[in-house]
Amino acid sequence: MPEYKAPQKDIHFVLNDLLDFEQHYSQLPGCEEATPDMVSAIIEEGARFAERVLAPLNQVGDQEGCTFEDGKVTTPSGFRDAYQQFVEGGWPSLSHSPEWGGQGLPDSLGMVVSELTSTANWAWGMYPGLSHGAMNTLEEHGTEEQKQTYLTKLVSGEWTGTMCLTEPHCGTDLGLLRTKAEPNADGSYAISGTKIFISAGEHDMADNIVHIVLARLPDAPAGTKGISLFIVPKHLPTANGGAGERNAVNCGSIEHKMGIHGNSTCVMNFDAATGYLIGPANKGLNCMFTFMNTARLGTAMQGLAHAEWGFQNSLPYARERLQMRALTGPAAPDKAADPIIVHPEVRKMLLTQKAFAEGGRALIYYCSMLVDKVKLADGEEKANADTQLAFLTPIAKAFLTEVGFESANHALQVYGGHGYISEWGMEQNVRDCRISMLYEGTTQIQALDLLGRKVLMTQGETLKSFTKVIHKFCKAAEEDPKMRAFTGPLAKLNSEWGDLTQQIGMKAMMNKEEVGAASVDYVMYSGYVTLAYFWARSAQAAQLKLAAGEGDAAFYRSKLTTARFYFERILPRTRGLVETMLSGSDNLMELPEDNFIF
Ligand SMILES: Cc1cc2nc3c(=O)[nH]c(=O)nc-3n(C[C@H](O)[C@H](O)[C@H](O)COP(=O)(O)OP(=O)(O)OC[C@H]3O[C@@H](n4cnc5c(N)ncnc54)[C@H](O)[C@@H]3O)c2cc1C
Repeated sequence: MPEYKAPQKDIHFVLNDLLDFEQHYSQLPGCEEATPDMVSAIIEEGARFAERVLAPLNQVGDQEGCTFEDGKVTTPSGFRDAYQQFVEGGWPSLSHSPEWGGQGLPDSLGMVVSELTSTANWAWGMYPGLSHGAMNTLEEHGTEEQKQTYLTKLVSGEWTGTMCLTEPHCGTDLGLLRTKAEPNADGSYAISGTKIFISAGEHDMADNIVHIVLARLPDAPAGTKGISLFIVPKHLPTANGGAGERNAVNCGSIEHKMGIHGNSTCVMNFDAATGYLIGPANKGLNCMFTFMNTARLGTAMQGLAHAEWGFQNSLPYARERLQMRALTGPAAPDKAADPIIVHPEVRKMLLTQKAFAEGGRALIYYCSMLVDKVKLADGEEKANADTQLAFLTPIAKAFLTEVGFESANHALQVYGGHGYISEWGMEQNVRDCRISMLYEGTTQIQALDLLGRKVLMTQGETLKSFTKVIHKFCKAAEEDPKMRAFTGPLAKLNSEWGDLTQQIGMKAMMNKEEVGAASVDYVMYSGYVTLAYFWARSAQAAQLKLAAGEGDAAFYRSKLTTARFYFERILPRTRGLVETMLSGSDNLMELPEDNFIF
């Protein structure tokens, strides 16, 4: 049976040695309570909950799945009880404002806790995860009354939230959506339409579900400019704030799907359900971006979660499974064969998972610092953080889910044929991970967002906001001979990143298809370079600790070795990506549709 042990040592490395969260919290107004002791205590407690309560339910959730009967969804055994414990522990309120019943701790700390819960059991973690996005949307765009009525209940965890965008004929292209919102005499709206694939749309874990729904007003312009955002509660709130009369929104069925069986994926029918407008009319997509950005970083976390889970389980397996002898002669002569970890290609699979999990953690925690700054800082600091976050979000989402899936496959491969057998949990890890590249904007859509909207449409400004950071780091470490193996290649790639962008931009002026044709290669290239920056910084942090003789030397040496592995074995993948991204759009667009198959 697979197990989960929260990687507390690495989490503390990233928070303390690499990113200096202590200083980050001490400088941000409103983060005073996040002292190092408080942070450690929360991680310790979150780890206990994840390891003891959630991880044992991960396989149960997969095997039992959710069941649907008479419009009701029953979650797998133990899910509801775990959610009650989560609420009693005050976890949903951790990083929300005290004004609405929250504990007022920074968002970044909430993201560390969500790494723990999500890795232990992704399907379960999606229930509170979606609520979190609903809370952020209401906090930013809701009226006082909406916040009082809905936000407080979501913050306490008594109610959960969903995001209802997708319809049968539109997923990526929300401009096509048809769900209608007709004004009622009392200022509310009658919402009618069908939404599909709604995660946690119906379940038995909370008294009420607050759906955040995209719909069109009667006189709305066509396309994305005519979409508004509504709150549609499953139960209409009573005068004293309870879950009252049933609203006309119902779950029609749940999907039978490849993975995340413990999370309900629902068809939701809105039959003139009562809804309330959030934010200005026809600006729903703008408001929804608050939800989607939270969700995108949350989904980037899914890549990390499955890489970590697979790595933690395939490593002990590789140390125990005996097959063949090491090429240099028996490593364990007292045994019938050597453990498979002696074989270079097995080590490559393990190190690849380690490099993506630990590097991914550094990238996500860095993004979470930017989230704090966007929310709490002022002036230039806030604006810089906003630009960098806009740039890094599609990279984190697309790249970390793609390499998270690669990692989950390596974990399965380490188990050999046993990886394909359910009881070991590795095939579940692959199946559960696969969705991460699809929802919250597919890899292709993140790639277009990065190259088209974020980079080319800003004349490279967002790219520069991050390449400047890398440039400064490389310059500062230039004189350190121990860092040259990292800063040399990183500085080269950093300047190549700008050159490639320019070349694609020039080609795009002649032919717009060039952007689409280069986009996925570009987002992956960007991911490899971004992670190289975090691995170079990790190497530097480890070297400093080793030089000072502080902490666990074996841990820091392992960081250095993994950084070297990343630079020598993973980063060269950028060479292939450069070739393909510059190969032009003709090789993709030339073949007439009718000639794809004969
Ligand atoms: C398990 C699960 C849970 C989900 N949860 C939710 C939820 O809670 N709420 C919600 O609203 N939705 C949810 N979704 C829906 C999900 O977000 C969509 O499936 C996703 O956005 C893709 O939309 P689509 O399925 O309609 O694919 P399509 O939009 O039809 O895309 C099909 C393919 O075409 C590609 N493509 C489309 N346009 C372009 C383009 N311009 N350039 C390049 N490639 C393109 C896509 O990348 C994809 O590969 C969920 C889906 C699943 C399966």
